[in-house]
Amino acid sequence: MKITSAEFLTSAPGLRGCPPPGPPEFAFIGRSNVGKSSLINLLVGRRDLAKVSQTPGKTQLINFFSINRAWLLVDLPGYGFAKVAKSARADFNEAVADYLEKREPATLRHTFALIDSRLPPQKLDIAFLGWLAADTASPYSLVFSKADKQSRSKTQENVQRFEREVIATLARPPTARFITSAVERSGRNEILAAISGLL
Ligand code: GDP
Repeated sequence: MKITSAEFLTSAPGLRGCPPPGPPEFAFIGRSNVGKSSLINLLVGRRDLAKVSQTPGKTQLINFFSINRAWLLVDLPGYGFAKVAKSARADFNEAVADYLEKREPATLRHTFALIDSRLPPQKLDIAFLGWLAADTASPYSLVFSKADKQSRSKTQENVQRFEREVIATLARPPTARFITSAVERSGRNEILAAISGLL
């Protein structure tokens, strides 16, 4: 897919502020600092569409970007600052949980969940994916980010470990796995091709 335009559309504090359902939406989510903003900028070929390294923990909004005037890229606030939560859902920003639970799959076509390829499975990611797989309906993929931080074989090892320890336990498996690096600019074409195929 060639990106011909990428424009900020709107920010929403919750499901209610989201644009009316219409164009297909593709959402990106991950723990704060996982590299989500960098990946979004890589995908759309812009240095600063999504703000890299926003102040962690501050109230964040759901940001919608119109891509090629054909689909919406949805930048969901990062998770990772909740302390001990009473339920898995409470771990995440309510607005995000609401959006992922209630946006119809006809609108929310796909969610890309980012995982840091350098780390062993993290509790917050396991909790988030467990919830996403069990309590939401749209298909999702995993994006293993920052692959340049270690050797290819180490990345493969970590992905395989994640596969065994986390993915195997999920109620609904991801439809694909991607390995990306914003530094090496890799994984971009694969993700854009997947989006293309779902438009
Ligand atoms: P976000 O909080 O998930 O949006 O993460 P950012 O995109 O702001 O990235 C967090 C930090 O990781 C920044 O210092 C980025 O420069 C760095 N980073 C992001 N992606 C990559 C990557 O692919 N490789 C490396 N080495 N660093 C990255």
